[in-house]
Amino acid sequence: MLFKYFLFSIFVLSTRLLPIQAAYSCDPAACVAPNCFCASTDPPGNIPIDQVPQFFVLTFDDAIQADSMKAVNALIGGRKNPNGCPITTTYFTQTMYTDFGMVTDWYAAGHEVADHTMTHPNLPGEVEITGNKLALHAFSGIPYKKITGFRAPYLNYSIGMLQTLAKLGFTYDSSITASPGDTYWPYTLDFGVANECWTSICDAAVKLPGFFEFPMYNVLGDNNVEYSMDPMLSGDPEVVEKWLVSNFDRHIQNKKAPFGLYLHPAQLVPQAGRPDPGPQITHYNNFLQYALSKPNVYAVTYSQVLAWMKNPVPASQLKDHPAFKCDVPKLGTEICNGLDDNSNGNIDEGAKQQCNLPTASFSTCYNCPSDIPSPGDPTPKRVSQNRFEVSDSCDLLYWDPIVGKCLCQDMSCAFTDLSSVNGTSTSGNSGSGGSSGSGANGNSTNPGQASNAWKVESESRVAIGVIGVIISLICGTLV
Ligand SMILES: [Zn+2]
Repeated sequence: MLFKYFLFSIFVLSTRLLPIQAAYSCDPAACVAPNCFCASTDPPGNIPIDQVPQFFVLTFDDAIQADSMKAVNALIGGRKNPNGCPITTTYFTQTMYTDFGMVTDWYAAGHEVADHTMTHPNLPGEVEITGNKLALHAFSGIPYKKITGFRAPYLNYSIGMLQTLAKLGFTYDSSITASPGDTYWPYTLDFGVANECWTSICDAAVKLPGFFEFPMYNVLGDNNVEYSMDPMLSGDPEVVEKWLVSNFDRHIQNKKAPFGLYLHPAQLVPQAGRPDPGPQITHYNNFLQYALSKPNVYAVTYSQVLAWMKNPVPASQLKDHPAFKCDVPKLGTEICNGLDDNSNGNIDEGAKQQCNLPTASFSTCYNCPSDIPSPGDPTPKRVSQNRFEVSDSCDLLYWDPIVGKCLCQDMSCAFTDLSSVNGTSTSGNSGSGGSSGSGANGNSTNPGQASNAWKVESESRVAIGVIGVIISLICGTLV
């Protein structure tokens, strides 16, 4: 695998040295918001730049499990946006090694759950993408219509993959990187791809109306070398903090394209044989403190940014924007919905089931499967049948899976999910009931296994970085 990426790196870097002319061309007269957005460094909405919010997208990749959530909470815990709401982030979640009950908690806390395939393969097919949605819906209760984004494992996208995502009804992809020279706001692919043109993708006749690419904005480090995910791995954390500050300043002092920080939480989990992640966490936190203290900076999910782009308002009105509210249901009694409904300091006490399978264990509110969800069978038959699957007419925040009842009382929480995994509308499913009991205590998922997927991705990036430095030394600069 490493050798393959070594060759890929040489290809990538050699093509970057060639003066390729981007073929992207968008007609603003034919591409009109809110359905179409040309790739542009300018924000939408003709709002005075000092009243354009500076969005900060903090994203996490791979499995959601106890160790990764601990690392995530060390970064986001207690932080608030200027409207008083907790900051929100996007987790590109894979099925493998994920604790489904923790995904429920993540969603209930207002964060976004996006798709990152079931088993993290290179160039995934449709089954890997839809299987992940099926499993996250069945065992975490996430409504299909809320899983709208995708990131390719290893960021290895293809035109076919983008076409598949659009066909399946996804709203956006975020796998393509942007350099300081093409720091575009998110744009729809009505007129094709506008980033990473050195791969020739901008020449491709890919036209996906209304489907967004949300670029991953590279961090510019010393000697004009660019970095993408996990930037603290690329230098002394104290130095990388300075890179992050100068890159954030470049965004907020210019056209305020969203700023991104893209992390693998597994990298921030202490592990034998690796450096102590403590300094990385410290300097990420220093940077977050700096960035989020600037005026009108909102750390929000990808979907919130896209909702603002379709309905842009000045930062002073953002607290009234429907996509930026943070109302939490006040139910009074505890149900299995990822929230502390009775305000006793515990989430779902005694309500989550613990599923202990031969090679994995995890929690869920929605009946343990008899086998691990896999591409061959994303939703295996349930061991117990005493929980009701979330209804398509109720958000999981209000759904009592034990009683099979929606506790939403008025129009403010009305909800309908008519989407399906293959992009077609459906009248959907209702709950299914049954008998039998739930499991007992279990062990958490093996963190060593969980970091495997990240490890390969990391190795490829190290290879790219090393070759990049060598070539930049030879050429005097890296283009
Ligand atoms: Zn990944």
